[in-house]
Amino acid sequence: IMAEKHDGFIITNPEGAAITEFTGSLLIKGEPDGSSFPNGSLRMTNAARGYTAWDPTSPAYIMHTANGATLMIPSVFLSWTGEALDKKIPLLRSNAAMDKAARKVLTLMGEDKIATLNASCGAEQEYFLIDEHFANLRPDLLLAGRSLFGAPPAKGQQFDDHYFGAIPARVQVFMQAYEDKLYRLGIPAKTHHNEVAPGQFEIAPYFESSNVAADHQQLMMTLMKSTAKEHGFLCLLHEKPFAGVNGSGKHVNWSVGNATQGNLLDPGSTPHDNLNFLLFCGAVIRGVHKHGGLLRAVIASASNDHRLGANEAPPAILSVYLGDQLESVFNDIKAGKLLEKAKGGLMDLGLSQILKFERDPGDRNRTSPFAFTGNRFEFRAVGSSQSVSGPLVAMNTMLADSLDWIAEKLEAALANGTDKTAAVIIVLKELMELHGNVIFGGDGYSEAWHKEAVEVRGLKNLPTSADALPEFKDPAVVDLFIKTGVLSKDELLSRFEVYAEQYILSLEVEAKLVIDMATTQIYPAVTQHLTHLADVSQTLSGLSLTLENTDLAEAVTQANAMMSAVNELKAALEEHDFDSTEAHMGFSAKTLCPLLVKVREHADKLETMVADDLWPLPKYQEMLFIK
Ligand code: ADP
Ligand code: MG
Repeated sequence: IMAEKHDGFIITNPEGAAITEFTGSLLIKGEPDGSSFPNGSLRMTNAARGYTAWDPTSPAYIMHTANGATLMIPSVFLSWTGEALDKKIPLLRSNAAMDKAARKVLTLMGEDKIATLNASCGAEQEYFLIDEHFANLRPDLLLAGRSLFGAPPAKGQQFDDHYFGAIPARVQVFMQAYEDKLYRLGIPAKTHHNEVAPGQFEIAPYFESSNVAADHQQLMMTLMKSTAKEHGFLCLLHEKPFAGVNGSGKHVNWSVGNATQGNLLDPGSTPHDNLNFLLFCGAVIRGVHKHGGLLRAVIASASNDHRLGANEAPPAILSVYLGDQLESVFNDIKAGKLLEKAKGGLMDLGLSQILKFERDPGDRNRTSPFAFTGNRFEFRAVGSSQSVSGPLVAMNTMLADSLDWIAEKLEAALANGTDKTAAVIIVLKELMELHGNVIFGGDGYSEAWHKEAVEVRGLKNLPTSADALPEFKDPAVVDLFIKTGVLSKDELLSRFEVYAEQYILSLEVEAKLVIDMATTQIYPAVTQHLTHLADVSQTLSGLSLTLENTDLAEAVTQANAMMSAVNELKAALEEHDFDSTEAHMGFSAKTLCPLLVKVREHADKLETMVADDLWPLPKYQEMLFIK
């Protein structure tokens, strides 16, 4: 999850004795060997030099272990040629590009004092906790982070009785220990609760500037795993550890603002006369419409593929949810006007004990992948195991590009002597005509939306990573990153190569695990079960009794079918001849994935037939419900 190199501050002095020294130069530049990181052909195999350089905008911290303490210094990581090998450099560059473009717009709007603009991020992290003692018996959970086998339990999440339920005592003890560690590191953990699936939980920190939030998020994931271990749990950050119950996401809440203008995505109570807000919100709408493919690509991974588009998670189509009030403001703008809107009004339960409170102007939409939630956008399709940096880079960069576009149009409109409000309407009207069809407030899970999005609105539906990752090579995306100075073409293409390779390798590991577990664990258990039944039948027939067991024949059929699917999978893994990375990814998505499912289908049926004490793997009901 994170990369670290530990250095002892020991240098020999001229007398040959060791002295401990800590010089500023060690902070400014470090030079570890960087040869074995995935670099997606950015460097030749023989080019090894990597530099780390201190990022003073992210707080250094002290990591304590039982034996001592280490000063940790957040750093960027780059090659000798100056190319970014990390996620921090692009994130810092994307913030700078956004700041530059936002200034142009704010200056045109007559603002004279403009402090540095920063993107903010508050990431809600979902995760599963499984009793370690069961997890240790599941090679799939340990190596792939998800269960590759497992029949659905009689009780899953159908009663909705886990969501926001009372937190199990053992989990609460873990959470408190974990949050105590977070506070010591200056990470502002704020909320935690049970999530939808049994065994699933969520934690969210208070939002911070995106660079600090991204570093803190990495630390949160790392510490979550290690603290869980101390409490006898395996913490699973995988997007879909268990079939049939909800998977885990990471909702990336994102806004931009500064010390002088405040949060530019905060509409206030009268959005129609908050022109800065309307421009920034319009810029986001344009960004998602123009770069929906990129937003889909930055959340693509083998593990997130199981979640996106399933019936619990946002679809793999990028649209924007604004809420009733704002949607109506932008529709007015499209018609060339700006009108005051009804507020949410007072919520009055008519109970004397309960105070009246102000209702939000719009409801939430949980099916939208990109939703406005009052004073920020929430990118809900991000995977639970991902770094938030990729999504933040994409959002900041698309915003920079849109703000540049807006600045250009606004400047032209204002040059004609048009007043500010009228100029904003002219620019946003054009923006809405070009990009307004990305706004969608309905049910994102429905069949009808999938059809409408693609056929009527021309939005992209990219169901798998194999479909989504090539978006990094799209000329419009290459152009976007070069123009904004966030990534060079080589840096961008190297990212495509790295993510594609990760995707292919993850599926290969899963395929090998499926073959191994089916052959060496499940099949032997089935044959043992059958042998036992056959013995019983024989004994009984000696007593002139017969055993009614229709499952016997069925178990044989399923076992044979499972092993023949295993053989198909083995043959598929032998395939190595691909013209391109894209072809290889396509093969993984279209051939390997369905074969994994095929083996599993038979194995899961066998799980319901074989004697429980012979079944070699802890079952869903054991793993998900024992606290
Ligand atoms: P919910 O689950 O109801 O959406 P949570 O409280 O779990 O809300 O998480 C909301 C997240 O959004 C928190 O991390 C919060 O700090 C963050 N957040 C709130 N305001 C902003 C903002 N202006 N910009 C970025 N993130 C924000
Ligand atoms: Mg939440």
